[in-house]
Amino acid sequence: MPELPEVETTLRGISPHILKRKVTAVTVRQPRLRWPIPENLAALMQHQTLLNISRRGKYLLLQFAQGSALIHLGMSGSLRIIKTIEPPMVHDHFDLVFGDIALRYCDPRRFGCLLWLEGEPLEHSLLAHLGPEPLTDDFTAEYLFQRTRKRSQPIKQLIMDSKVVVGVGNIYANESLFMAGIKPIRKAASLTRKNCVDLVRDIKFVLQRSIDQGGTTLRDFVGGDGKPGYFQQKLLVYGRGGKACSNCEKPLKEIRMNDRTTVYCVNCQR
Ligand SMILES: [Zn+2]
Repeated sequence: MPELPEVETTLRGISPHILKRKVTAVTVRQPRLRWPIPENLAALMQHQTLLNISRRGKYLLLQFAQGSALIHLGMSGSLRIIKTIEPPMVHDHFDLVFGDIALRYCDPRRFGCLLWLEGEPLEHSLLAHLGPEPLTDDFTAEYLFQRTRKRSQPIKQLIMDSKVVVGVGNIYANESLFMAGIKPIRKAASLTRKNCVDLVRDIKFVLQRSIDQGGTTLRDFVGGDGKPGYFQQKLLVYGRGGKACSNCEKPLKEIRMNDRTTVYCVNCQR
């Protein structure tokens, strides 16, 4: 599943090719994504110049003078830059065409979306209630400490709540809690200020490291059969249930929490 680092890498991969260019056509082959692609989208976007591309959480915002296209990659979506004449494959659901090149969206499971927003995009209902970006100075230890007060839910669940902080997917939650030495099942309210300092630092670290690794895959965003951007990474706990902890060598414990795989070290995480 594309997580924040993949979306950020996508943004960096596609931007240089389409920024400041004019949309010449919009081709929709399958409008039924998570929400239907608006029928009048081509009319809305055609002849408009792409002014800016930004990311909010896992959403990409393509800003034009008259509004913004909002794209989410869902469970299995990916974007790549292709030559417009390149024939589509079965899951290539839409193209935003910029003359001789196009931004092509592929999504086998169709949980992604392409919507058109008028007005201030960050006030749209999908974006307005999102928590701070984890890699900005808005996400601080003091902020997390305050958000954990009187919260009885497990800390892992809290940091995966996009209203608290965006973009901390399951892998990153597992990894950062291990690095910070905090049990995923611990009540959020029990975290100390020191715990919050460690956890915020390690969330930023795992996300930034993943983005840095993604940077090496940027060329994959251009070209034919691309499966861009979903990079493999070296993980300390996720996917390693039953294997030796890299710190104490005791077997890592794997449980289900909120229907998500959760792996931690009973010995090293308190
Ligand atoms: Zn351990």
